[in-house]
Amino acid sequence: MERLWAPWRINYVAMPEQDKKGCIFCDKPVANDDKKNLIIYRGKFSFVLMNLFPYNNGHLLIAPYKHTNQLSELNSEEKLELMDLLVLCQKVISEKMSPHGFNIGMNLGQVAGAGVKDHLHFHIVPRWDGDTNFMPILSDVKVVSEGLEQTWEKLKVRFDEMMLDA
Ligand SMILES: [Zn+2]
Repeated sequence: MERLWAPWRINYVAMPEQDKKGCIFCDKPVANDDKKNLIIYRGKFSFVLMNLFPYNNGHLLIAPYKHTNQLSELNSEEKLELMDLLVLCQKVISEKMSPHGFNIGMNLGQVAGAGVKDHLHFHIVPRWDGDTNFMPILSDVKVVSEGLEQTWEKLKVRFDEMMLDA
């Protein structure tokens, strides 16, 4: 996989260690401010949120509410819902953003590149032909964070509709 150059991620990398304390996947769902926290969908056992430091526009994360870094600690229902949410995310992004492909996966452990190594989460990253070329244009962080809110609105509407369909 060709690496995306995502210069705004420097904001995360440069963040002082004390600001990284706590667990974002435990703290955000209980904060009750889904728009600010970019939470887009709440399932029974897991929830979907947008990555604040995305590798690409529409980069979503799915995490169980359960604080664990072991897949083996999830029960069958929890694992099933994670898979259902993956499919749902892919469907919504496809409809709303028309990507040409996806990177979907999980980084387990720091050595594997996990930013939050203590709490499991799936990454869903939509890909477009040539995105590795045009991404550097979006190097202004402000532009990207405004984009996040717009993308949140756009995807949230569809997730809400899907929830009613179910
Ligand atoms: Zn956690």
